[in-house]
Amino acid sequence: MVIETRSPKETFEFGKKIGELAKAGEIYTLIGDLGVGKTVFTQGLARGLQIEEAISSPTFTIVQVYEEGRLPFYHFDVYRIGDIEEMEEIGYEDYFYGQGVSLIEWSNLIEEILPQRRTEITIEKDLDQGFDFRRITVRELGV
Ligand code: ADP
Ligand code: MG
Repeated sequence: MVIETRSPKETFEFGKKIGELAKAGEIYTLIGDLGVGKTVFTQGLARGLQIEEAISSPTFTIVQVYEEGRLPFYHFDVYRIGDIEEMEEIGYEDYFYGQGVSLIEWSNLIEEILPQRRTEITIEKDLDQGFDFRRITVRELGV
């Protein structure tokens, strides 16, 4: 599925729809350059899980856990990760294979430990279409 947005609000709303449909144990992986809108999308998805708390990027912690919503939400941002051992140290498998919803920004940096079964979301700019334009591609992998 490919959808196009023309404002942060539209990307948020699309994330929210995905969050409303999300089920326990699902994994969403986000790929795209810095500033493309991964965190905006994530904020929408969290809202769709009925999380009201503000979502920022977990810059110093790799993962931020939100328990207040419809399902537990595990927000990873692995942009600054050094190596896969850091994922092992935080016990990533308990999140990925648990009963919450996992979302990983910069998932391409930890490709080797990603489950086959996941929803891969790629966000791209296209400056020919304007500064606020984004193309969001959603792929169901491993099904
Ligand atoms: P990332 O997490 O991918 O590094 P952020 O979500 O933190 O990116 O930031 C995206 C930036 O792009 C925000 O400043 C946002 O306002 C801006 N923006 C402009 N147009 C869009 C759009 N269509 N969708 C999402 N963000 C947009
Ligand atoms: Mg981000």
